[in-house]
This record gives sequence, C-alpha cells and structure tokens, in this order.
Amino acid sequence: MVKDPNAGLGTMIGRAFRSCCPRCGGGGIFSRWGVLREWCPTCGFRFERESGYFVGAMIINTGATLFLTLAVLVLGLWATWPSVPWVPLSIATILAAGLTPILFYPRSKTLWMAVELSYHRLEDAERLAAIERIESAG
Ligand SMILES: [Zn+2]
Repeated sequence: MVKDPNAGLGTMIGRAFRSCCPRCGGGGIFSRWGVLREWCPTCGFRFERESGYFVGAMIINTGATLFLTLAVLVLGLWATWPSVPWVPLSIATILAAGLTPILFYPRSKTLWMAVELSYHRLEDAERLAAIERIESAG
C-alpha cells in the first residue's frame, strides 16, 4: 500500500537520498549496487516510465560532478592561497571528477525519479499497472 502517493518534492527527495522509492518510501529498490529493479517491490511503481527516462539522471549526475569538482578546486585554492599545494590539489580535483559520477550514480537515479514524479504524477494506467504488479507478485 502506498503511504503517501501525493507526497511533495521535499519528501520524495528525502526518500531518494535514502535509496528508497520516491513514490512510497519503500526500500529494496536496487537489486545490487547501482542496479535499479524494474519496479518498486513495495508499491509496484515501474521506475523507467518511458524510453530514455534516465537521461534526466545523467544530467543530475553530471551537474553534481561539476559542482563537487569545482568545489574541491575552489575550496582548496581558497584555503591554501598563496602557497597552493598544486600536486595534492590536482590529485584531489581529479579524484573528485572521477569518483563522483560513480559514487553518485544510484542517487542520481532516485533523485531524478523524485523530481520527475513531482511534476509528472502517475497516470491512471500506470497506477493500475502498479497495483497489478504488487497483487500478482504476491
Ligand atoms: Zn514504491
């Protein structure tokens, strides 16, 4: 049963940050690290609502990577100016640029689902299909 199918964006983003289904808050939506199940085991919400759905997640992931990389660089410069340790700062910046998209990948998907779901609510056919999935699953 969906606890709050009309939850606001803030609630859904909180669920997304906890790796939960943005629609119902249920857990277990990843079968393993970074691999989203086809649908939510709690409410039956089919995550990939249409072809190319997760392009929005790629945009979020790219934005987060850019932000964190620049933050490391700018904060490093700001904290150590004028005797900047260039090699360690370069390594930290490259690590931020290389690791953020990998580590943030699952979160970018759940965040995208929360944002998208906040302005594109489930249509009746999707809602009925979700109920059928849950009922046939057992
Ligand atoms: Zn759910």
